[in-house]
Amino acid sequence: MEMNNTMVPLPSDLLSKKETMCIFGTGDFGRSLGYKMMQCGYSIVFGSRNPQASGLIPEGATVLSHTEAAEMSNVIIIAVHRAHYNFLESLREALQGKVLVDVSNNLKTNQYPESNAEYLAQLMPSSKVVKAFNTVSAWALQSGGLDASRQVFVCGNDNKSKEKVMEIVRSLGLTPVDKGSLLAAKEIEDYPLQLFPMWKYPILLSLGLSAFFLLYSIIRDVVYNYITKNKDYSFFIAISIPNRICPVVALILLALVYLPGIFAAILQLYRGTKYSRFPNWLDQWMLCRKQLGLVALAYAFLHVLYTLVIPIRYYVRWRISGYTLDQAHNNRTDPLNIERAWISDSYVALGILGFFLFVLLGITSLPSVSNSVNWREFRFVQSYLGYLTLVLCTAHTLVYGGKRFLNAHSYPWFLPAAYILSLIIPCIVLVMKFFLILPCIDRPLTDIRQGWERKSKYRKQANNGQTAKETSAV
Ligand code: NAP
Repeated sequence: MEMNNTMVPLPSDLLSKKETMCIFGTGDFGRSLGYKMMQCGYSIVFGSRNPQASGLIPEGATVLSHTEAAEMSNVIIIAVHRAHYNFLESLREALQGKVLVDVSNNLKTNQYPESNAEYLAQLMPSSKVVKAFNTVSAWALQSGGLDASRQVFVCGNDNKSKEKVMEIVRSLGLTPVDKGSLLAAKEIEDYPLQLFPMWKYPILLSLGLSAFFLLYSIIRDVVYNYITKNKDYSFFIAISIPNRICPVVALILLALVYLPGIFAAILQLYRGTKYSRFPNWLDQWMLCRKQLGLVALAYAFLHVLYTLVIPIRYYVRWRISGYTLDQAHNNRTDPLNIERAWISDSYVALGILGFFLFVLLGITSLPSVSNSVNWREFRFVQSYLGYLTLVLCTAHTLVYGGKRFLNAHSYPWFLPAAYILSLIIPCIVLVMKFFLILPCIDRPLTDIRQGWERKSKYRKQANNGQTAKETSAV
């Protein structure tokens, strides 16, 4: 990243130093970290290949050769790319016993067999390597925009050195997070390379479902009418079809939020223990439930917007006026159909309530809200209210279908409407949940979740002990 080179000169009282820190490398990151450290009262000495040519360094810092700079501090921050670490080999003696802070990142995951920090530790066996600062960008350090990334992940094999680096992190106004030994470095180095990891599958899934239902609805509602009735309904693509896709995708995604919980419960019941890992796919699925729910909420929101514009649509107004004229021409007034009024009002009411709870679920999943409720409250909202939302939204769709489910005209080319397809997964989830809350299934499941194991060796030992006692008593 190209950095801005205009660092504001620091006031002279700040330059009346705390402790000297050494930074190898006068590149973007080294300069920005040095500037931040000087703001916090440290005295900075840079180690550079070419000390005379380093004209961009913050005012008040010193630039020396690597060997000279290393003598000035016990902590040396290596702000150099891993590919150039071999220059350190010639400095082994000068860096003996010193703390080397590895701040490096890679361009892609698994670029090297071992983490950069472990590589540095192998290269410099007589120094103490600590990984830190790699998730903080040079730009954020220089601009002060650190609000979103105050956490600094720290790991290292030598506890004293790690503590020392964590103390430095704290003194810069950042929050150190101890990630353990240097083995954690690989994971820490992967953090900056991740691109919305939890959002990837929900977004891909929603796009896939949208594409499928778009194609399906075009065939069913546009192509069918064109071929069999010679009617051009291609304009459905603008509002009618999106307003079919949005609720359908929202309902399926909402059901998919609760389906992994059902699978997990079945697995735990089958295995008779909770101390056994779920398959990887189920773990991943469980981890992205919040994102699935939020994408579903976005689709539901779009459905609400599309529905609100229905009365101002030309096609809708044309149909209503045609119906009114038809009654006038035939001198007839259709009586109020109470059953239809009930069905229509009920499905709208269920939709409003379902959407309201959906929004509530979305709000409670925000970190600022979820952090302020206790575990029981969070579970109440996300589980009980979540299922209630699913019930209301499924009922909204069922009532919308009403008598049309049994009408042969609703199946052009034997294709059911998209909303009928969307009911499959929610109904499966609700039926399975119904069985899981039956007392005869819920009780063993609750026991398992509280640590009971069907095949526990401890339980066997306890049983054997019991049998031996009973035998001796006989
Ligand atoms: P940079 O601007 O390219 O600077 C790297 C510095 O390394 C150079 O200025 C140079 O300093 C030194 N260097 C270059 N080739 C060398 C060699 N063959 N031998 C010895 N030293 C050499 O890179 P940067 O952006 O500052 O990144 C430095 C490290 O910080 C990297 O490991 C990077 O992954 C990590 N990091 C960067 C950021 C960021 O936002 N930029 C964020 C987190 C972590 P001298 O000319 O003074 O010797």
